[in-house]
Parts: sequence; C-alpha cells; structure tokens
Amino acid sequence: MGNTKVTWHGHACFEVDMGKKVLVDPFITGNPKTDLNKDSVNTDVVIVTHGHSDHLGDAVDIAMRNKVPLVTMVELAWTLEEEFKGLKVEGINLSGSVTVSGIRISSVVAVHSSSYKGKNVGPPMGVVFGNGFRIYHAGDTGVFGDMELIREVYHPNLSLLPIGGYYTMSPVEAALATSKLRSEYTIPMHYNTFDLVKSDPEEFRKYVHDKGSSNVLIPKVGETITFGSDGKVLA
Ligand SMILES: [Zn+2]
Repeated sequence: MGNTKVTWHGHACFEVDMGKKVLVDPFITGNPKTDLNKDSVNTDVVIVTHGHSDHLGDAVDIAMRNKVPLVTMVELAWTLEEEFKGLKVEGINLSGSVTVSGIRISSVVAVHSSSYKGKNVGPPMGVVFGNGFRIYHAGDTGVFGDMELIREVYHPNLSLLPIGGYYTMSPVEAALATSKLRSEYTIPMHYNTFDLVKSDPEEFRKYVHDKGSSNVLIPKVGETITFGSDGKVLA
C-alpha cells in the first residue's frame, strides 16, 4: 500500500486520499468550522454514517457533481435515491461491505439514532474502510462493548472518534473506546463545532494516555496527516 493522507475538515468530515479519495460526512453548508469548499471538492466515493443534517450535509450535491456513489445505510440510500434522480447509491447494512474504486467499505454498529426530514431511515452506522491501511470512522456513537469485535474483525490502524458529548461520547467514554479498539492512532472529532459539543481534545489525549491504548493525533481543521506504507505517521 502507498501513503494515506487524512484531512479533517471539521465536525465529522474527513477526506482520505489512499490513491482513490474517500469523503465522509461532508457537513459544509451551515458548518462554522470547516475549510472545505463543497463546489470544488473532488472524491471517488462519499460515505454518510446517518441521516442527521450535520453528517449527511452536502453529500448528495457532492456525489452528484462528482458522479460517484453515495454509500450509506440502505433505508437512507433508498430515500435519497427516490428524492434525487440521478444520484448513485450503495445502500449497505450492518456488517455488510461494498468495494468502490478498489476501497473496501464495511458498515459497523453505532449506538445512536438516525432520521432524515423527520422520517425513520434505518439505524445509524460506523464504517471501516481502506485498502491496506484501515480507518474506522465511528459516526455518532456512544461507547459499546462490541467495539472489541470491530478490532477483532477489522483491525483498524486509525480510529476517528467523537468526543463532543451531548450527542455522542465525551472524552471519558471515548478514551474507554480506544482501549477496546486498540488502533495505533486515534483522531478525535465532532467537537467545538457548536457550543453544544464543546470539548477539549487535550483532555481526551490525557485520558487515552493514562490507558496507554492509542496515540492521539489532534489535527487542526484543514490539516492533513500522512501515514506511510508501514502505517506509521510520516514526520
Ligand atoms: Zn447524529
């Protein structure tokens, strides 16, 4: 595998370049803390973890402009496909996988809720994706014991975990999550976008350090972290 470039664009939005590009939860319009331009971003696939507007965001626009599939939970996929003619969807379900542009994308449990315009659109999900270097994007979730199964089945090299509290885990619960996942690296997300999700990533780093379970990386919005072919951060 080659290098993997991971860029945080605020909230739960990540752009990953592993030869092909993946964009997850592109919440741009209405996000006061993003650097991404929805009209110029290019990607090979868009992944959406659930229907809440701060995750679905601009995903439909971006997928349609790039003419690439939007991968999400099957009920949400069907709902969007019906509403937006010409949108390509891949509607997977929990523990299911799809390969897009050579990148394997697997759906995993998230302990949260999901809706779209007030409609029930199936459960939320997390995803594990990659083609050698594997990334777990937890979506919105609380901590749960079966994160150990995610480790056992997928061995993610990098976990992206919410720490904002209120809607998701806060630093204490997310630190416990790292001890179950034991990925080499963890990046906190879903914090400081709004006052409701105010959180301190350094506090998260301290709790994780006390458990000794992962290396916490704290990118600024718009910052890219590059992982080499050995899975280690490049200096
Ligand atoms: Zn949510």
